[in-house]
Amino acid sequence: DKLKEGLTKTRDSLADKIGEVLSLNKKIDEELFEELEEAMIMSDIGYKTSSEIIDTLRKRVKENKISDSENVKQTLKEIIVEMMGNNDMGIIPENTPAVFLIVGVNGVGKTTSIGKMAYYLKNKGFKVALAAGDTFRAAAIDQLEVWGRRCGIEVIKHQEGSDPAAVIFDAIQSAKAKKADILICDTAGRLHNKKNLMEELRKINKILEKEYSQAYKQTLLVLDATTGQNALIQAKQFMEVSDVNGIILTKLDGTAKGGIVIAVSNELNIPVKMIGVGEGIEDLQEFNPKAFVDAIF
Ligand code: GDP
Repeated sequence: DKLKEGLTKTRDSLADKIGEVLSLNKKIDEELFEELEEAMIMSDIGYKTSSEIIDTLRKRVKENKISDSENVKQTLKEIIVEMMGNNDMGIIPENTPAVFLIVGVNGVGKTTSIGKMAYYLKNKGFKVALAAGDTFRAAAIDQLEVWGRRCGIEVIKHQEGSDPAAVIFDAIQSAKAKKADILICDTAGRLHNKKNLMEELRKINKILEKEYSQAYKQTLLVLDATTGQNALIQAKQFMEVSDVNGIILTKLDGTAKGGIVIAVSNELNIPVKMIGVGEGIEDLQEFNPKAFVDAIF
């Protein structure tokens, strides 16, 4: 399937490295644990999460007197699934009306993800509306309109350079009038100008609280898996300027850095909700830790 296909490179890098360590029929000893940990660190799981995984593995292997490598591998898979297991998956809102504020730096796949989300939610039976809140770039507004047309969904927009909060204000009135279930708002991703970004998000949040307090609100951060450990740094920077409720991890297809999913879900305490596995409209999937681990090992 698409997930397995998309994760080919990650599987080649991560599972092959781990498989190599485990297939040599070596003794299950400290040296093996160290080699495993190194293979994991090299695969973008990162130092912190890798050592946590290996500490748990060490303990469990001892407790359960595991002595063959196949069992070590199964135990390793279980530990990773458990570690990511607290994710409440998907973006189906608990209540409607709902509003999603989508944040993330330019180029990570924010607009594409919004388009895919709109399509996904529409197919689940929700009435969706889009707000072109990234007024900083004309291309972002145009691109969102293209997605809107593709999905048959209305896009509320102003001119380039206008106040994003004003766009959101109009979008809320329109969503209310047309009884939309879910309003998805794009925002500008100017992380290099933290003060502006913070101010912009503060203003948008204020409008949402004032004009749409009945809506179930979620701020979702879009991260690009191909940036590996940098995605973690970016996430932490966004978490400083806004409350983030969930993560959408894009471009998992075609990267060997898929191990970053494990680090992101373990280290940020924010659930990974959806993953991008291609450029097409249907290439956004609910993140399922077990399916993910099964696809890469
Ligand atoms: P934005 O600047 O964050 O809005 O980024 P865009 O949505 O314009 O996406 C940037 C590029 O990444 C585009 O060429 C997209 O087609 C591509 N892209 C987005 N998500 C994915 C994904 O999950 N997989 C792949 N392969 N490409 C993606």
